Amino acid sequence: MPEKILIVEDNPLNMKLMLMTLRNYGYTLLQATDGEEAIDFARREKPDLIIMDIRLHKMDGQEVPRRLRRMPDFKDTPIIAVTAHAMKGDREKFLGAGFDHYLPKPIDTRELPKFVAKILLSHQKSAILMSVKNDGKENPRS
Ligand code: MN
Repeated sequence: MPEKILIVEDNPLNMKLMLMTLRNYGYTLLQATDGEEAIDFARREKPDLIIMDIRLHKMDGQEVPRRLRRMPDFKDTPIIAVTAHAMKGDREKFLGAGFDHYLPKPIDTRELPKFVAKILLSHQKSAILMSVKNDGKENPRS
């Protein structure tokens, strides 16, 4: 099954750029334009990765990962913040809000697909390690 990436962005041009940047890698790309929609969409579609703009209508972008992290389905889903307003201390602030990674805008269209692939791969690896660990617990060998 193709991996699902949810892109949350309220600026149509930035959304278009993200979609174009990631469209040729076999992912299923989902789009949301505000925080409420992002959360509804995430619950329904269970994306493997979320990339989101911090500045959104209706809900502060930081509120989205805070809410998602309270749901068991999203305890460790990679969530990447993107923002044009990078300031000193932002990184810590965003990581503290529940984001895993932080990318400044403008988006580097060459680097983004590599970055996304790397995150998805390392997330899969840690998921496999977890299931091996749980198996060991449930089925002791001796
Ligand atoms: Mn925005």
